Amino acid sequence: MTAQKGLVFDIQGYSVHDGPGCRTLVFLSGCPLRCEWCANPEGMEIRQQVMFSTTKCRHTNLNCTRCLDACHQKAIELSNDENILKIDRSICRNCETYDCTNACFYEAIRLVGKWMSVDELMEIFNRDRQYWGQGGGVTFSGGEPFIQKDFLLEVLKKCKKAFIHTAIETTAHVATQVLLDTFRYVDFAFIDIKHMDSQKHKEKTGVGNELILNNIAALANSDWKGRLVLRMPVIRNYNDTDENVMSIIRFMKKLGLFEINILPFHRLGDSKWKQLGLNYLYSDEEGTSEEKLDHIQDLFLDERIACYVAHDTLF
Ligand code: SF4
Ligand code: SF4
Repeated sequence: MTAQKGLVFDIQGYSVHDGPGCRTLVFLSGCPLRCEWCANPEGMEIRQQVMFSTTKCRHTNLNCTRCLDACHQKAIELSNDENILKIDRSICRNCETYDCTNACFYEAIRLVGKWMSVDELMEIFNRDRQYWGQGGGVTFSGGEPFIQKDFLLEVLKKCKKAFIHTAIETTAHVATQVLLDTFRYVDFAFIDIKHMDSQKHKEKTGVGNELILNNIAALANSDWKGRLVLRMPVIRNYNDTDENVMSIIRFMKKLGLFEINILPFHRLGDSKWKQLGLNYLYSDEEGTSEEKLDHIQDLFLDERIACYVAHDTLF
């Protein structure tokens, strides 16, 4: 048994896009970056949070007030003008009971994030492994898995002891030695590279890129035996310029890295931002065009770098 607990905001089985074979995907809460386009904003904070869906809520048509009545801290109130619920999330921050989530019959208000032990996760992996088939395993995603570095390391070690293939999806924004020590237990990695200009990186993610680039270089120059595929979300008028792509290409070639996965922008995170009471800046942004993806892919291919688009990474 182990006492270490980690905050997990989702677990998905049968994932086939996040590493070789069929996998169990574990989303760990907390992230040091604040990417404006984030598709999993419920994983940004390392704390439990309430998500509220106005479309599922039955207050307007059934006059339900169950969550209002359940909240002893009076964090929920009716908005006078719109007849909808308003949640004062500054009060919820200190909530210990989350009574509102238990009161709602319609899952309109729900709690995100569950504290789980390493052994609880291992139980799930041991249950799922019969469905993975050959080459499958576990992938840790987020948020940023390294935010919970001690928990991550412990569960990775247990996976290796159980002969489970391990993968990680990370920003690599973590102390270099922590990354290298942890990667001893990692077989496959996707590492994000968002912008080669540190100032521009900071503009839309909240942090510069120096630590991330240094860590990619440190990993490439280490004796790590796993496989690394870089990942680039394609954001219009931000990182989709030839100049930025060519800069990534030079960086990769210098390090002897020859695989990248480019991810088209999509708006799937839109409703999640709203359910968290957050402002999403990309509500009106179109998805990345086929032409742009083709063009960026060609730039990489011209330099003999394998460039996988969206879910087409070859495992
Ligand atoms: S999370 Fe707690 S404080 Fe917030 S609405 Fe629910 S019960 Fe009230
Ligand atoms: S309990 Fe659920 S359905 Fe009822 S008002 Fe609250 S959020 Fe809406």
